[in-house]
Amino acid sequence: MQHFYFDHNATTPVAPEVLRDLTATLVEVSGNASSIHHYGQAAKKKLENARREVAERIGCDAKEVVFTSGGTEADNLAIFGVGRKAGRAVKHVITSAVEHPAVLSACAQLEREGSEVIYLPVDGDGVVQLDELKRALRPGTTLVTIMHANNETGVIQPIKEISALTHSCGALLHSDGVQTGGRLPVSVKELGVDLFSISGHKFGAPKGVGALYVRKGLSLEPVMFGGHHERDRRAGTENVPGLAAFGKAASLARDWTEFAPLRDRLEAGILARVPGSQVNGGGAKRVPNTTNIRFDGVEGEAIVIALDLRGYAVSSGSACSSGAVEPSHVLLAMGLTPAEARSSVRFSLGPGNTVEQVDGLIEAVEASVAHLRRISPENTAGEKRPA
Ligand SMILES: *Cc1c(COP(=O)(O)O)cnc(C)c1O
Repeated sequence: MQHFYFDHNATTPVAPEVLRDLTATLVEVSGNASSIHHYGQAAKKKLENARREVAERIGCDAKEVVFTSGGTEADNLAIFGVGRKAGRAVKHVITSAVEHPAVLSACAQLEREGSEVIYLPVDGDGVVQLDELKRALRPGTTLVTIMHANNETGVIQPIKEISALTHSCGALLHSDGVQTGGRLPVSVKELGVDLFSISGHKFGAPKGVGALYVRKGLSLEPVMFGGHHERDRRAGTENVPGLAAFGKAASLARDWTEFAPLRDRLEAGILARVPGSQVNGGGAKRVPNTTNIRFDGVEGEAIVIALDLRGYAVSSGSACSSGAVEPSHVLLAMGLTPAEARSSVRFSLGPGNTVEQVDGLIEAVEASVAHLRRISPENTAGEKRPA
């Protein structure tokens, strides 16, 4: 059986051009980038080349790029780096209810350490409301952390406007840009962020490499302590092959806007062929590769499994913790009921997807949902069965 991948927001395969750089560096560049000898200098050169490539991709200076082990660590470094910084008497942090767990869990930890954290609500499309931010900001606010695009729905937040409000209050702005950085032409300067997280494996680099953009002049409290790597902002011997691949993936400068027609075809096809289907966040500005659709009366998890059996890999936004499927916090924050949230499925496209795959997926979704509704004891597709 053939398998088709529609879960690019979870991770992407390593791009062929990137694989060459990854393996060549692994084989040929064995040194530690901190060593002064020939081997060390060759590693250092690779590392700094990668830093330039990543910086160029997000529109900043190479010195403003701190390499990390991925998006999660970049988020943690931003939040704890600012949130724990000595000298700021009032610790007040603002985030949103729809952030990635890397941000939400870091903020929850700051709360346990004595900071006050405000979780901004979102509207029905998942967009942070600027007047809510205005209300929450105060002179002592240390940090605002709002994601650029949501990983479950693809909904884009108004970061430029958020930046203006945040800075007018003297606070710093971090944005989790893992779903946009490296995929879309993003400029951190244009967005007006002070800190911006990206992750290599979301755009064709291997897992375990990422970066935090740290605006020039901004000093951070480290999260990892050790040697003087990354200009004292992140200790630990650099993953040179992984980072070389990260730089290569960034330099390919692929624009995922090219997947918009495929996403639109998928979305329109499903909405037309599956009764009781609706797009979550469809009224907002979204990234071009993502659609999140709910199917009345069917468990998203069951759809994911049914599609997997037909060869299509998709995701239900719900996290499976302690054996129980919990409804997505993102969809709940958008006002969906737990049942609606649980009936949602995320389709995320990327390199390798074709029109034929999309058409096959539409058929598979139609057949899977129809089957699940037939066998459901509730059978709530459209009309209820008489008791
Ligand atoms: C994947 C993802 C992360 C985590 O990145 P890792 O590199 O997997 O740690 C953080 N934020 C968002 C929005 C993501 O999609």
